[in-house]
Amino acid sequence: MSARLGGGSGGPHPASEGGGAQCDAESAALFPAGEGGAPTEPDADAEARCAAGPASRRPVIAVLAVQGAFIEHERRLRQLGCTTVELRQASDLRRGFDGLVLPGGESTAQSKLLRDLGMLDPLRELITAGLPVLGTCAGLILLAARVEGTGDLRGLDEARAAGRARVDGLRTLDVTVERNAYGRQLGSFHAQGALVAGGGAGTPDAGTAPLPLTFIRAPRITAMGPAVHPLVTLDGQPVAVQQGAQVAAAFHPELDDDDRLYRRFLDLVR
Ligand code: GLN
Repeated sequence: MSARLGGGSGGPHPASEGGGAQCDAESAALFPAGEGGAPTEPDADAEARCAAGPASRRPVIAVLAVQGAFIEHERRLRQLGCTTVELRQASDLRRGFDGLVLPGGESTAQSKLLRDLGMLDPLRELITAGLPVLGTCAGLILLAARVEGTGDLRGLDEARAAGRARVDGLRTLDVTVERNAYGRQLGSFHAQGALVAGGGAGTPDAGTAPLPLTFIRAPRITAMGPAVHPLVTLDGQPVAVQQGAQVAAAFHPELDDDDRLYRRFLDLVR
């Protein structure tokens, strides 16, 4: 079991103080609270969809941008009315933000870069303090308390294989994941996931329609602690989970036209 369980999103996060572009109350009032389905084009709706809520300001979402599929997340977040900032170096952590997205990519490279850049411990502290976070694929691996599986080490010498195998990540989410566990031949595939009843992956308007899932050399969630609950399942197995203000998915929500997982995350931010 990981040493740190629970979490929660209570209260404004220190990192969010002073951050974020303001938006006017009129456009905030236009935010379609019950809207679902495919994202709309950026900008046209982005103004009108400026995050509702008492503060009437756009959520500022930091996207880890050291490696991997961060551009796609940024685009989707902006379509959903967020302002995005990229985290590329430790000094970027001083920019104000309300939530954090950890994109897919290569978790070994990402964890090494985070350590080398001096970002690993500060990010862990922010998440432990309750900063809402969405981790996808490699991002899930970075969050996982326990990581199994080495990935594909064929053709690597011993030293490189050892380096590649190690994911020394944030370890804030009480799950065990096995990397690349869906196998090489099924390295990438599409499927339809089921929202878990009783809230599932979303707001009350999330509905029951299957969730499109895109997997790319995805990790499998093989064990969960008691504070973790599944949001989305595939063949009865959890493929997205939540623990406090941490939401993590084995798939890539940025690649499908379904906003429900983002909305689940953004509900924690607002
Ligand atoms: N297989 C990658 C890893 O182990 C994750 C793949 C992804 O993020 N799409 O880090």
